[in-house]
Amino acid sequence: MSEERFSKAAPLPGRLHRLHELALDLWWSWDDRARQVFRRLDLALWRATAHNPVQMLQRISPERLAWAAADAAFLKAYDEALFGLDNARTVSHPWWRDHQAMLGSGTVAYFSAEFALHQSLPIYAGGLGVLAGDHCKEAADLGLPFVGVGFMYPQGYFRQRMTNDGWQEERYERISWTDAPIEAAVTPDGRRCITAVPLGDRTVLAAVWRVRLGRVRLFLLDTDLAENAPWDRELSARLYGGDRETRIQQEVILGIGGVCALRALGIAPTVWHLNEGHAAFVALQRIRELIEQGRSFDDALEEVQRSTVFTTHTPVPAGHDAFPFHLVEKHLAGRWGAIGQHRQRFLALGEYDNGSGSQFNMTALALRTSSFVNGVSALHGEVTRSMWRPMWPDTPADQLPVRSITNGVHVPTWLASDVHEMLDHHFGPGWLDRVDDPELWEQLNDIPDSEIWAMRNQLRQDLFSFIRERMRARFSLEQVGQSRIVSAGAMLDPEALTLGYARRFTAYKRPELIFHDPDRLARILTNSDRPVQIVFAGKAHPADEPAKHHLQRVFKHALDPKFGGRLAFIDDYDMHVAHYLVQGCDVWLNSPRKPLEASGTSGMKASLNGAPHLSIGDGWWAEGFNGRNGWLIESHANPDDHAAVDAADAAALYDLLETDVVPAFYERDARGLPRKWVAVVREAMRSNVPRFSTRRMVKQYVTEMYGPASRSAVTAPTS
Ligand SMILES: *Cc1c(COP(=O)(O)O)cnc(C)c1O
Repeated sequence: MSEERFSKAAPLPGRLHRLHELALDLWWSWDDRARQVFRRLDLALWRATAHNPVQMLQRISPERLAWAAADAAFLKAYDEALFGLDNARTVSHPWWRDHQAMLGSGTVAYFSAEFALHQSLPIYAGGLGVLAGDHCKEAADLGLPFVGVGFMYPQGYFRQRMTNDGWQEERYERISWTDAPIEAAVTPDGRRCITAVPLGDRTVLAAVWRVRLGRVRLFLLDTDLAENAPWDRELSARLYGGDRETRIQQEVILGIGGVCALRALGIAPTVWHLNEGHAAFVALQRIRELIEQGRSFDDALEEVQRSTVFTTHTPVPAGHDAFPFHLVEKHLAGRWGAIGQHRQRFLALGEYDNGSGSQFNMTALALRTSSFVNGVSALHGEVTRSMWRPMWPDTPADQLPVRSITNGVHVPTWLASDVHEMLDHHFGPGWLDRVDDPELWEQLNDIPDSEIWAMRNQLRQDLFSFIRERMRARFSLEQVGQSRIVSAGAMLDPEALTLGYARRFTAYKRPELIFHDPDRLARILTNSDRPVQIVFAGKAHPADEPAKHHLQRVFKHALDPKFGGRLAFIDDYDMHVAHYLVQGCDVWLNSPRKPLEASGTSGMKASLNGAPHLSIGDGWWAEGFNGRNGWLIESHANPDDHAAVDAADAAALYDLLETDVVPAFYERDARGLPRKWVAVVREAMRSNVPRFSTRRMVKQYVTEMYGPASRSAVTAPTS
């Protein structure tokens, strides 16, 4: 496979014969030594390809490869990286060795409609995908027997371009197979894995791609095969594209096709984890299989429940996927198979009325077919319990079967190399194995203020060089006015206090909250002794018109002379841009309408790099804020009066900026150090990293959900 892919590329010198293999395992992306290999190999190509080694190796010159094969320093890095890769594929973490009995010999299958692993694989839209990607990477680091199942969207999620007028344009580009870190999945007998999914009155084929993450593998379904009808080829073309009809067909393919693909690959999971309700049709396929093996419907359902784990993410009823029954009937028609005589019972598993009539609700289906359910922060757990209260009319409120496991972020993925180096130096080797140990982070107290401050200044500088470089590249490529790319980027001051606001644009996240009183904001930004600047980024869902208007207004503010060129908007927000922003901004701003932010994770990424959170006490921040590790935007207006809440929250935000945030950043001692600021930076890292890491999170999934689910599956009676 890899031979074919690189057939037009410069051949590898013998000494570097495993370079393709390293590039095709995304493990490299979160190992600092492996990243250095590609960086050193050709820095210009590394930057030009947005850090995509597969594409680099297609384009690299034979001379450069020959240089590398003869350079002692490069070879040392290369050997170390391959040693690391081999270890990552074979050696598991001591914690897992102590806990593996919990899972017996079982495997966890993790289903998600999106995975954010790296910018070279644009099959994610936002937070849900990032969480899924980080979960898989952490499972790989711990060495869990774990596979992911999702979609390979040949056109991915869209790329964003802003018109001069601030209107979002969406471009879909076909992913180039030769440049992406994916390979065809093969069955145990060596054939290309293609699975047949019954859909409506026909069968749709889905090819299966494999992504490697150390010892974890991800399997991605793709219906773009010549054997399929043109409309079926389109089914998996785009993430969250299309209408309700497309959506339900995608979900049938993910749930039913995903189970079939695992069977074809010879993988027999004992725990099935549904990340959000999109994949809940897994239950249909599994019940059908069990009935075919001679089990009764009730027995089959019970077994499926025992071994299914469900994570819900959405705190608004309308955010949950629901379909009219006739659509479900239509797309499952004729192919019920062994479950046919129990059709009504199956449909009843999804029935739910969220206020707009009874529908087939994917979250209801997932809730009724799993016994381990969690929300993604303590507060979201509470919201979920009250939202789905009607599902369990007879259960006392404090005994509802919904718990919470707060999200986390994958530390090696989101940590800047500079911070990594600083911590290597002070914490000593092997510290990454202990990122969730609070004691480890106490050692931050031994790092001098000056060193932490220098690190922060360096990261801010790196962000601005990235923005300038990006602007220059776009400018020469597209010959467009620079105002379109970064509205005021060139004016950014590398010494000034920089706030970051970057996430999916959508109404409940209130991207315009900070503009509530434009004059007051302008005074804060343009104070010549203590200037403040804000960098914005984010995409609006293509069908979300109100969000596009928010985006347009923010974009126009950035051009407004009133704000003195202290606002910037970076287009085409993705993981690549996110890395620079969460690392380089000084403060991470988050202003959702409480309690609609289930968790949020970008603020965790920022804290990790010493950029404290300035946020409403929603999602993870409701449990993360401790009075010293960032700032809490708090007000006491009547929550049902949105206008009053907005006004009060905005006033609280301005107060914090004026009296706390800005003074702390600009008050310097005789040595020029902002002592108060550095104390917040240090506390943000010390208190947040161990708690809001996926290391803590995945361990919790293992002990509280996977372990019990797998134990009950093992002891389940088999008839
Ligand atoms: C982390 C991340 C998100 C999630 O942001 P939140 O709004 O904080 O949940 C979205 N998009 C990208 C590209 C990210 O890296």
